[in-house]
Formats: sequence, structure tokens, C-alpha cells
Amino acid sequence: MTNPLEVKKVNEFLLFTKWSDGFESTIKLEDLRKDCPCAECTGEKIGDIIYSKPKPVRFEPGVYEIKELTPIGNYAIAAKWANGHDTGIYTWELLRKIFDKYSLTQSEINEITSTKKKDKRNINLNVIS
Ligand SMILES: [Zn+2]
Repeated sequence: MTNPLEVKKVNEFLLFTKWSDGFESTIKLEDLRKDCPCAECTGEKIGDIIYSKPKPVRFEPGVYEIKELTPIGNYAIAAKWANGHDTGIYTWELLRKIFDKYSLTQSEINEITSTKKKDKRNINLNVIS
């Protein structure tokens, strides 16, 4: 089985991984969040009995912003998002599938990175009391 040698946040939107078999891939953090495997996001079902329905990702501040990635043993990482969602555990197998599925091309990476740099909005509020 292949395992990641490196997991690196490229910038606020992108995550890069390098694997023991030489595979490298960069994806949007948004896609990692959307494929969160936890019971809350995927719903709970045992046999044919549904205990809870999958909950779609609702947009709110920090929802796609990664706070922490913590290795669990040598088989998975746990993701903690800025809005507090922290129940997702990504096994190496799942992580690899996600990085295969959403892998960005170099031009997509460049586009996302340059869009980010061009956006230099500075919000200033003058409060007159
Ligand atoms: Zn989740």
C-alpha cells in the first residue's frame, strides 16, 4: 500500500501531497472538505436502517479553511476546519482516491494562485461615532 510522504498546504485554497509510489497531486481544500467521510457528512446507515441523512456542506465562514491536519497512527489524518468541523478522518486509501479524483493541472493551479494574488481587496471601515 502506498502512503503519503508529504502533505502540504500550498496556500489558503490548495493542498499538495507526495506519495511513496511517486504520485504527486494538488487539490482544492474545498474538494477535500466536500468528501469528508464522517458520519455527519455522509449519514449513518447500518444495513437498511438509516439513522441520519447526509448533511450537505453549508456555506459559512471558515468552512473550506483548514486549521489542522493531524496524523493518526500510520494510516490516516484527521482534518480540523476553521468552522470547527473536526470529525473527518481520511485514511490513506481514501485520501489517495480524493487526490486522484480532484487532481488539478498545473494551469489550474496557476490560475487559482494568480486569482488569489489579484484579489487585494482591503476592507476598511471608518466608524464615526
Ligand atoms: Zn464531516
